[in-house]
Amino acid sequence: MKNRRKRKVIIVGGGLAGLSAAYQLSQHERFDIHLIEKSNRLGGRVDSCNINGQVIDVGGFLVYPWYKIYHELIKELNLTEELIKVPMARDYFASNQKSCEKYDKEFKLSFKDMVEIFLGVFPNQLTDYDPTEPGLHGYHDLTVKDYLKSLNMDVDKTNYYLSVFDTYLQGYCYGPVSEHKMAFMAATLFQNILHGDMHAASYLRNGGKVFIDALQKELESRGVQIHYNCSLEKIDNKQLVTNLGKMEADDFIFCHTPEEVSYSKFITATVSYSGTAVVEGDTEWGSCFYKEDEQLFPILSIVNLEKLYGKKAAQHLNLNIKVNDNKSTNITSPDLLLIIKSEMQQHFREITILELVNRVDWDKAMPIATEDFVESTRGKQGENNFYYAGDFMGCPSMETALYNGKRAAHKLVHDLFVE
Ligand SMILES: Cc1cc2nc3c(=O)[nH]c(=O)nc-3n(C[C@H](O)[C@H](O)[C@H](O)COP(=O)(O)OP(=O)(O)OC[C@H]3O[C@@H](n4cnc5c(N)ncnc54)[C@H](O)[C@@H]3O)c2cc1C
Repeated sequence: MKNRRKRKVIIVGGGLAGLSAAYQLSQHERFDIHLIEKSNRLGGRVDSCNINGQVIDVGGFLVYPWYKIYHELIKELNLTEELIKVPMARDYFASNQKSCEKYDKEFKLSFKDMVEIFLGVFPNQLTDYDPTEPGLHGYHDLTVKDYLKSLNMDVDKTNYYLSVFDTYLQGYCYGPVSEHKMAFMAATLFQNILHGDMHAASYLRNGGKVFIDALQKELESRGVQIHYNCSLEKIDNKQLVTNLGKMEADDFIFCHTPEEVSYSKFITATVSYSGTAVVEGDTEWGSCFYKEDEQLFPILSIVNLEKLYGKKAAQHLNLNIKVNDNKSTNITSPDLLLIIKSEMQQHFREITILELVNRVDWDKAMPIATEDFVESTRGKQGENNFYYAGDFMGCPSMETALYNGKRAAHKLVHDLFVE
């Protein structure tokens, strides 16, 4: 170790990437750590709301078996008992078909399909399969959809893979395959396919807030200073210009949402209803996923909250709505409710939507980073004591956010203290 002085580090963004970076760095006593967060809460795209005293997730929540860092943190924070398996309720895809059956029969990939996918569609994944640091330039910056089309497979085969991938991605609560760059999703899909579908995943039975709160408590006990309502506006050499004034530091880790990346927009709406929500005669369904259509606010997925959170959340649904018209992002809640009511009529005739219990407007929800942008960020890692994590790395999941934050912190420690 060369340097004995306490170094001031500013971490920008209090989502999983920033929290993970702070968690790693705070294991070393040599840092004076400040985390700045533009909103009044931590967690970013992991967010929860409250129904009848039950905390439920409205953002990232599915934890796949390959989430190594996530599982490690859960253990370290003594939350193992909070993490439970997603219940075996049926999931439906494109509800106008016998889609549950279709999913059970067709979307469980056979061994032959898997071999074909891994050899033919994911050529890089067998050697380069790390979702937290995907190989770049293997997919020519194409979206998942365009990449599949570029393979010039039989049309039926292309459509089949499109449906399978759309299903796997939407099971992840993402937008449709026409939006995500293959380079970033391939590695994630590879892992999901290998480790099973949604039913192999876990979630926190009292919502992701439990995880964020435990992290916050741990960071505060280690002396990390958290500055809420503090927004980075500009970087001026070694100074951050924020709405609360200028801040200086020795090192910086940027984990906020980069301007250079484009994003798709979503609204997660929690609604209450009366009546019985039936899908294809099934009252015990878990979730429904729909193909995107031309509407300005298509509902992409519906989650039956009672299945995940029990009786207190009965008669409540989470709707994941894509916002296709930027101008309408600021839609009022009464107008949104009208749209929801009319769209839900097409999907569920037997229920009446009563109330919009909660809404989260994800202005910056799903990152659509280019390979060049991520490559250039990787190249700049550590330059001028600037480090990057989260969406700067094309981050598409909770695990990759945690991993990127940890990796940025490790690199900083390594650059400073290890020859
Ligand atoms: C509806 C939804 C469902 C999802 N489902 C899943 C899932 O089931 N499983 C899964 O693994 N992933 C899921 N994800 C993705 C996952 O939640 C995210 O990839 C992950 O949480 C991103 O973490 P992050 O730290 O990179 O970014 P964020 O969580 O966005 O954190 C960035 C933080 O930076 C702050 N910030 C932004 N700009 C500034 C600024 N200028 N100054 C200061 N602070 C700033 C923001 O307020 C925010 O708190 C889902 C995402 C959404 C939206």
